[in-house]
Amino acid sequence: MARVQFLNCPPTLDFLSQGFYSTSIQVIPMTFSAKLKIQYDSEWTNTYSHSSSYGDEMLPEEHITMEIPAEDLTTTQLFKFFSNFLRAIGHCEVGIMKGACGTAFNEFQTQDDMRKVAEEYDLKLAEDYAKEFRKMQDEIYDLKAKLSRFEQPDNPNYTDAEMDAMDFQEWKGLIPGSPEAVKKNCKCPILDNQEMPDDRKWVNADCPLHGKVQ
Ligand SMILES: [Zn+2]
Repeated sequence: MARVQFLNCPPTLDFLSQGFYSTSIQVIPMTFSAKLKIQYDSEWTNTYSHSSSYGDEMLPEEHITMEIPAEDLTTTQLFKFFSNFLRAIGHCEVGIMKGACGTAFNEFQTQDDMRKVAEEYDLKLAEDYAKEFRKMQDEIYDLKAKLSRFEQPDNPNYTDAEMDAMDFQEWKGLIPGSPEAVKKNCKCPILDNQEMPDDRKWVNADCPLHGKVQ
């Protein structure tokens, strides 16, 4: 690969008959090469003095070196190379996948950056999913309430579905025991609610958000 280097020396000016100046630059051809090498060396030392042999399953020594020309490698190619290496030294596919995801999704990344990556792979962040889910849940409660009113137009009381819809709205989309609700002083059971569907949550009467007794 040739590279053009612009030197600091003043360019020579050639006066042309038309009255223009042209600048000539000295061109120095350069080559750039880069190589990436990862090496793994393992060795078993027998500390049991009565036996000098290794088990049939055990390799006394192992040396693995992988090398790749690295002039134009993309990040994706580098990860591909690294995952091949991890596979060679005995890591399983799922572990490698988790490791790569752990690089992208962890508490030290900003939510914006993680969202960019998630969108590229057609994934949803739990934070975004919860919001969308709540919006849909809200619509479902509303539709169920309207349907119940349509079926019993003369019912003088609120229908069950209408009460459910009001409860949900009163919760302001904050599911009892959810981390968002707990942040806002929810006193409902957390663990017991984890396995429950969103419209069947345990509610504590003395919860300031969800309790009936205030
Ligand atoms: Zn609560």
